[in-house]
Amino acid sequence: MTTSPELTRIVEAIRERHRFVISSHVRPDGDSIGSSVAMALALKALGKQAVVVHADPAPAPFAPFPGVADIVVAPEATGDFEAAIIMECGDLGRTGVSGLDRSFVINIDHHPGNSGFGDLCWFDANAAACAEMVFDLILALGVPFTREIATQVYVGILTDTGSFHYSGISTKTFDICKAVLEAGVNPQAVARQVYDSYNMGRIRLLGAVLSGMRVDPSGGIAVIYLDNAMLHASGGSYEDTDGMINEPLKVKEIAAVVFFKQIEGNEYRVSMRSKGDIDVGALAREYGGGGHKNAAGCTVGGPIDELRTVFVEKIEAAINGRSVSHR
Ligand code: 5GP
Ligand code: MN
Repeated sequence: MTTSPELTRIVEAIRERHRFVISSHVRPDGDSIGSSVAMALALKALGKQAVVVHADPAPAPFAPFPGVADIVVAPEATGDFEAAIIMECGDLGRTGVSGLDRSFVINIDHHPGNSGFGDLCWFDANAAACAEMVFDLILALGVPFTREIATQVYVGILTDTGSFHYSGISTKTFDICKAVLEAGVNPQAVARQVYDSYNMGRIRLLGAVLSGMRVDPSGGIAVIYLDNAMLHASGGSYEDTDGMINEPLKVKEIAAVVFFKQIEGNEYRVSMRSKGDIDVGALAREYGGGGHKNAAGCTVGGPIDELRTVFVEKIEAAINGRSVSHR
């Protein structure tokens, strides 16, 4: 287990306090849910009060996991708490929850580009998931690694490694997974619940998105697109797009995928994924977003055809080791 000075300071700060709020980024994913809920369960095991406040609800597949039903979905953290623990956020604004900075703020994250906000900041870009850091913290606090807590740690690791596809996986990842299984978690049951509990709308939406896929002349960059009319016609929902971006990457030759999702009008959420050395995180940061080398996102505005061209050019440049600047 890693013992960093930051971890020691966080353990001390937690021991001294009793009432906690925990939050993570807007549109929470498996790691934000797993990290937040595992932390809350651990604090409760220490006899403390802990409430998870997220700006958006957990996607449906995560709903049956322990502690998810207790997540408060709200734009503001109210009530009297002594510390806010923020998972997975480069800055406090990423939570979409106001009022978190009314008390002591603890920032726990593994995304490059973290601003270092908060009274205590523990950042580890080598962690494959924030849940790996939470595992260390739970152990350092002396909390028993129960099946409920282990389930949430595993949900974080399973989803943030793209089911053990991405970089960042280490021997430590598997050491933690060993502890997860020893705590009684059934990895097959977790994977079935996370990945094989789609609704029909999601499959129709996947069909619509993939049939509109465009590939650049090199054959290495795929661009997919979703607008609100397609969403409506399929009967799917915005959250049904989770994980969809990984489909084109299953083609051997595809090295990067850009997914434009219409928010409204000319405003789009951009998700990007890449293989190997292609740094889409740097590209996302250019547009005020963030993420990792192989998984990143941002929000952009402009005519979609222009956006497609610009992003393909920038990724081509990243592949060829050049930089492209646009007007
Ligand atoms: P996704 O494509 O799944 O939305 O995001 C991929 C990764 O990039 C995640 O690790 C996510 O936290 C990060 N990311 C996505 N969008 C943004 C953004 O707007 N700002 C920052 N800082 N990170 C983002
Ligand atoms: Mn994460």
